[in-house]
Amino acid sequence: MIVVISGPSGVGKGTVVDDLLRRNHDMHRSISATTRAPRPGEIDGTDYHFVTPEQFSIWVDNGLFAEYAVVRDNQYGTLKSSLNAVEPSEIVVLTIDIQGGLQIKRLFPDSLLIFLKPPDFRELERRLSSRGSEAACEIAGRLELGRHEMAFAKDYDYMVTNDRLERAVGIVDAIIRRVLRGQE
Ligand code: 5GP
Repeated sequence: MIVVISGPSGVGKGTVVDDLLRRNHDMHRSISATTRAPRPGEIDGTDYHFVTPEQFSIWVDNGLFAEYAVVRDNQYGTLKSSLNAVEPSEIVVLTIDIQGGLQIKRLFPDSLLIFLKPPDFRELERRLSSRGSEAACEIAGRLELGRHEMAFAKDYDYMVTNDRLERAVGIVDAIIRRVLRGQE
């Protein structure tokens, strides 16, 4: 099964997915390709496949992507090869934006789309600022995009509020298990 986790930047998608994968050994993450530069500590092939815009275009032209989108001036895409290995009993988790999530749903109608929502936007602003890696206008841009993304969340299968990590991961986990049982 394919599970897509989306949500505004800073909502804690990465932390929720890390925790989910730590708990469940039948789940693994799909590693996306991106043209953005690695942040300190990010590892090529583990966090993303970091590629040049030229390389990304070649992969687009060769039909290597299941979905791709531009997010804040950078390109991101899910390689078909990272989904090919998906057996019915395996769960692959995609942490991607809404445009990508909706493309995946069209291609794979059985995929499960979960939107992570912040308790409120002031909290999101606080989380983004405390990350300390981005300038103020970058943070403003992310918040704006986050508000825009919220408008599309209605097309997702489930919406989960990430107020407390433990609780949010528990709910996401329970949703995945229930949907999986229904598909068996
Ligand atoms: P970041 O640069 O902060 O890692 O990610 C920025 C945004 O791009 C996030 O919303 C993230 O979920 C999204 N993203 C990451 N990988 C992909 C992908 O393969 N496809 C799409 N459509 N979005 C992605």
